[in-house]
Amino acid sequence: MSRFLHSKYKELAPYVPGEQPKGQPLVKLNTNENPYPPSPKVIEAVRGAEAQNLRLYSDPEARQLVNAIAGYYRLLPEQVVVGNGSDEILAFCYMAFGEDGIRYPEISYGFYPVFSKTFSVEGQAIPLREDFSIDIRDYQHAGKTVLIANPNAPTGMCLHPAQIEDILKTNREHPVIIDEAYVDFGAESCVSLLPRYDNLVVVQTFSKSRNLAGGRLGFALASKELAGDLNKIKFSFNPYNVNRLSIAAGAAAMEDIAYFTQCTRRVVATRQLTEERLLALGFTVLASKANFLFAKPGNISGSEYFQRLRQRDILVRHWDIPKIADYVRITIGSEEEMERFYQATKEILQQAQQEGAGDAI
Ligand code: PMP
Repeated sequence: MSRFLHSKYKELAPYVPGEQPKGQPLVKLNTNENPYPPSPKVIEAVRGAEAQNLRLYSDPEARQLVNAIAGYYRLLPEQVVVGNGSDEILAFCYMAFGEDGIRYPEISYGFYPVFSKTFSVEGQAIPLREDFSIDIRDYQHAGKTVLIANPNAPTGMCLHPAQIEDILKTNREHPVIIDEAYVDFGAESCVSLLPRYDNLVVVQTFSKSRNLAGGRLGFALASKELAGDLNKIKFSFNPYNVNRLSIAAGAAAMEDIAYFTQCTRRVVATRQLTEERLLALGFTVLASKANFLFAKPGNISGSEYFQRLRQRDILVRHWDIPKIADYVRITIGSEEEMERFYQATKEILQQAQQEGAGDAI
């Protein structure tokens, strides 16, 4: 750290993203990317005339992309705000709506507490229930902005829109931000509540269900007024926050509904198979509606399991946080990757059992 850094950032502990290995042939199940490539229509859109236009700034209103999103969700373009990943959209939300503090679950997306520090927002982390579920009563009458990932990460567990409506009803004076990064893998979106709740902000991303993590595209859906607030922040920060290639890619991804449906269904089917296999091997597996599973092995610790997978070139995510240290988060990869993961897991458990038997003698 230099002596020039603003004093308010001296204690900042940045978010630690999952490892992005270079070169090694790893089975990468650690950052919840989609295992399948972007839609062929996306590739076509990026290869086309748009590359020629990189000389020019991108459209600050990203109209092509905004219209594609608005069309898909049957909303007005004025209700859509696009960003450089949903991380940027969440950052805009902190800037715009953090004045009275933001309440979020204690076990959730690791960026929430980091943003609290970055934007000097009072973050209030509420513990989950013992079974990792969210008790909606903790978010009613909050008297501050509420932020909930639905499905939650890293648990994968979800709330029903009716439960979110119960939160919205009792927080009319503050925004309720629902981070739906993983909603397309089997949960129900809150978008249908938008006409009735002018305090709702739905945040989504192209990184997971639309196979574009590297394109860095996220968006917010909200009432015209709330979306206007977010756009005010965007235009005061980086008007060209979405580049030309990503605008073209995102619009094409949004329009290729058949490909989206096919990829998300495959991920869900693989998740179901993987869950069944892990349960049969004695794991505890939380009920996930996301493109990952949060699972605890029976006869080996979370960190040991993580390391032994790593030794076999399989990368999952583990956190050294007491409440979740027994668990690992496993992104659902392709059918082949999950087969390798399953075979490796069987080997690891067998090995652990033999070692355990050895210890007993
Ligand atoms: N919300 C949640 C719950 C996430 O897990 C992630 C991905 N790490 C994000 C938002 C941000 O995703 P992106 O910036 O790629 O849209």
